[in-house]
Amino acid sequence: MPDQEKIQWISDELENLRQSGLYTSIRTLNSPQGSWLDVDGKRALNFCSNNYLGLANHPKITQAAKKAIDDFGVGPGAVRTIAGTMGLHLELENRLAAFKGVEAAITFQSGFNANIGAIPALVSKEDVIYSDELNHASIIDGCRLSRAKVIRYAHCDPEDLNRVINESSKDGYRRTLVITDGVFSMDGDVAPLDDIYQIAHAHNCLLMVDDAHGEGVLGRGGRGIVDHYDLHGKVDIEVGTLSKAFGVVGGLVAGKRIIIDWLRQRGRPFLFSSAMTLPDVAACIAAVDLLEQSTELVDRLWKNTAYFKEEVQKLGFDTGNSATPITPIMLGEAPLAQEFSRRLFEEGVFAMSIGFPTVPRGKARIRVMISAAHSREDLNRGLEIFGKVGKELHVI
Ligand SMILES: *Cc1c(COP(=O)(O)O)cnc(C)c1O
Repeated sequence: MPDQEKIQWISDELENLRQSGLYTSIRTLNSPQGSWLDVDGKRALNFCSNNYLGLANHPKITQAAKKAIDDFGVGPGAVRTIAGTMGLHLELENRLAAFKGVEAAITFQSGFNANIGAIPALVSKEDVIYSDELNHASIIDGCRLSRAKVIRYAHCDPEDLNRVINESSKDGYRRTLVITDGVFSMDGDVAPLDDIYQIAHAHNCLLMVDDAHGEGVLGRGGRGIVDHYDLHGKVDIEVGTLSKAFGVVGGLVAGKRIIIDWLRQRGRPFLFSSAMTLPDVAACIAAVDLLEQSTELVDRLWKNTAYFKEEVQKLGFDTGNSATPITPIMLGEAPLAQEFSRRLFEEGVFAMSIGFPTVPRGKARIRVMISAAHSREDLNRGLEIFGKVGKELHVI
């Protein structure tokens, strides 16, 4: 077969994506993270990033990273179980455990790796996972890798969870695991973790929550969803990321010491992939320092969120079910969302459209991410441009 023919299907698929408005074009940034960015050479207001607290470019954090390079260099050398772990990695894990109020924590290279490491270490072929139908892709992949039976329950619906557990109880699974996102990343709604806990507890299921968008956002001083619902000691496994509110990169799993010890023995991305780099680890420790010292940034994040949401709704936009700084502007069809995003950018606002497969077909949107880094003027400027483009495209 000629070379071109073997990959013709890929060209066809890419063309399909372009035709249906689902081809993702990635813009190039040439400035630090902040409320304003240089995007493809143009100054634009940043409404895209998960840098909730403005820590990605915070001087205390960048200084900590620089010092770590001077003290220890950059790379971790090899996989921790083979070449030894740096004290700095252990320090971060202890600090994260204390911050979240759990016995222990383990870090991974990313939140994605934390999920695909933790889930297969906890359940396998003879077991069952009850998973919210809108859980993050990394949970879905972790579930697949585990080879456990996966039963989805209706989004944020504890009654439906109860129903699917009851229905499958006769099937004789060995272990049972309930998994939910804490904050759902595309809608910004919060899982009813208190009710989910009651059901998981009543059926003796392990309970795991992915708090990627809750850490640094929900709970006292950003301690996360477990703190938000005061479920300390009740949720077995908390997964998280260091790439969102913490402003760096990396992932974590937090919970009982026994579970964390087990992940150090059986979490495959921990065993077979090198650890976070040292400047990243030091930067994350500095982020924990900042969060422990003051709630100022978290408070500002929520104030900005309340202001933007109220004003954007007053303009006539539909923000779906969001209860967090993730503010979807619901538009419907993907080509409209792409056009909206393109016009926003022309007007100096960087906010990406999100379509299938990240969200269901027909539920395309612009996802606005509010940050503590935004000033009131930034938010007002954004609102003005959303209003202008919304009218122009007959959305409001
Ligand atoms: C972002 C996200 C992840 C992945 O985190 P990374 O550190 O970027 O790999 C995992 N789970 C959820 C719910 C997320 O929103």
